[in-house]
Amino acid sequence: MHLHSCLSPCGDNDMTPYNLVNMAALNELDIIALTDHNSCKNCPAAVKVAEQVGITLICGMELCTDEEIHVVCLFPTLEAAMEFDKLIEPLIPNVPANADAFGDQLIMDDQDNIIGRYDKLLVTAANISIENVQKTVKQLGGVAFPAHIDKSSYSILSSLGTIPQECEFKAVEISARGDVAALKSQLPQLEAMPLLLSSDAHYLEDINPQRAWLMLEKPTAGEVIKALSDGCVEFGRG
Ligand SMILES: [Zn+2]
Ligand SMILES: [Zn+2]
Repeated sequence: MHLHSCLSPCGDNDMTPYNLVNMAALNELDIIALTDHNSCKNCPAAVKVAEQVGITLICGMELCTDEEIHVVCLFPTLEAAMEFDKLIEPLIPNVPANADAFGDQLIMDDQDNIIGRYDKLLVTAANISIENVQKTVKQLGGVAFPAHIDKSSYSILSSLGTIPQECEFKAVEISARGDVAALKSQLPQLEAMPLLLSSDAHYLEDINPQRAWLMLEKPTAGEVIKALSDGCVEFGRG
């Protein structure tokens, strides 16, 4: 539920929509989400590849809020994601992309052709508060959850020290090496929430083979969003 393409400044240029979807298919994943930093502009290509390959691609974004908190936002359709992209774009500061210090921020088509380079740096904080993220995403039929909450930077715990009720998060993501037991004792509300252990993959070799599962009516973006919105879902690993 958390993959970066070559559009993310920190995403490897080999993480083209074509490559990342095919790598996920090789690893027998049924559903993946593309969540570039502050942008959904490689989702159109990724959706096309996923349709060809026969897996479900959820269009998403890893948004950086003005508190420097990363939040994963998932949408039911490409159209909803692109609507969100349009809302966020003016909120991204006008800092020029710097391909020497960061990546090329490539926008691709579904056949590995470069169709553009995004010119504002995508690792800056967008001018939206953490409290407004879930409300905005929900209006578009999506769901948002705080990313890698255990990390010492760009996480809700490093920034706020807790997960405020008013943010309305019903699921959280923990980084692959996160200590789930320690987090649960610190935050009892996690007991009742789906905890996503992320790959947060920036390189093709970081896309893990199938290990986690969610019980869904059908493998669609809508069903995943429903599962992560009401906190009531059967899930597991193995
Ligand atoms: Zn992040
Ligand atoms: Zn990430």
